[in-house]
Amino acid sequence: MISASLDARHPGRISVYCGRFAPSPSGPLHFGSLVTALASYLQARSRGGRWLVRMEDLDTPRNQPGAATTILRQLDSLGLRPDGAVLAQSTRLRAYREALAALAARHLTFPCGCSRQDLGEAIYPGTCRNGLAPGRQARAVRVRVSGETIVLQDEIQGEFRQHLSREVGDFVVRRADNIVAYHLAVVVDDAWQGITEVVRGADLLDSTPRQIYLQRLLGLPTPRYAHLPIAADAQGQKLSKQTGARAIAEGGPVRTLHACLEYLGQRPDPRLQRAMPSEVLEWGVAHWDLSKVPRRATIIVQPDQGL
Ligand code: GLU
Repeated sequence: MISASLDARHPGRISVYCGRFAPSPSGPLHFGSLVTALASYLQARSRGGRWLVRMEDLDTPRNQPGAATTILRQLDSLGLRPDGAVLAQSTRLRAYREALAALAARHLTFPCGCSRQDLGEAIYPGTCRNGLAPGRQARAVRVRVSGETIVLQDEIQGEFRQHLSREVGDFVVRRADNIVAYHLAVVVDDAWQGITEVVRGADLLDSTPRQIYLQRLLGLPTPRYAHLPIAADAQGQKLSKQTGARAIAEGGPVRTLHACLEYLGQRPDPRLQRAMPSEVLEWGVAHWDLSKVPRRATIIVQPDQGL
């Protein structure tokens, strides 16, 4: 196994592969997030790289007491053990404040006084871009987007393009409740942890151009991206937080790993059904083939029948 130490002065300059799994502690892992954990792990390990876990616990109103511990226990029961300590984003507030200050110093951000009621679901129309209207209080902080199209070559989903000003608009980097927005925190931490490739669910594909844009503004490296198909049930609904917890409890870790591998298009050896989790993972590392991962979910998950 390759071990590379993080260089505190140039943390983004690690050349060996480094992947990560970044759950939010808003509940236990569901089948889709177990799939993401496993895929990011196998992709890293099959390249002789490191695999880190980051707890994305900034959204305190959505954090659920005990969820971080449950998630780490779930990962451990599957044999998914990170290289190094788990990084909690709540310990990184200073780094986010510095990034926000760097953007503000270059007038790349502006205070915004609009409320959700003012804006609805529409693309931000630039209301506070040139200053707050008299009598308006600053609420959130937004970053000015440019008129460019960000083009991303995703390793599973292929080319993805987004015109930021037409399709997204100036977006929030510090929320009205003073919490740093996910997009800012994720790019600061991916760079700081030296992440070379992000493997995560395709529900975040649409967010990636915003993250690439912030990386460019902050002078941070852009990792490679691979967005996995989203697991859904027979009704096409995203799976509930309880699905994974129940899967491990009822089906056991080996059955869960097996189901995740099948979902990822890897055709696990049926004999693995009677193996230890560590043997399933070993098989996974040896046979992992990202090109076999389907772009869209081809397996329907039936949570009530176990996995
Ligand atoms: N914390 C995010 C989530 O649980 C994932 C963020 C990421 O992988 O970039 O949905």
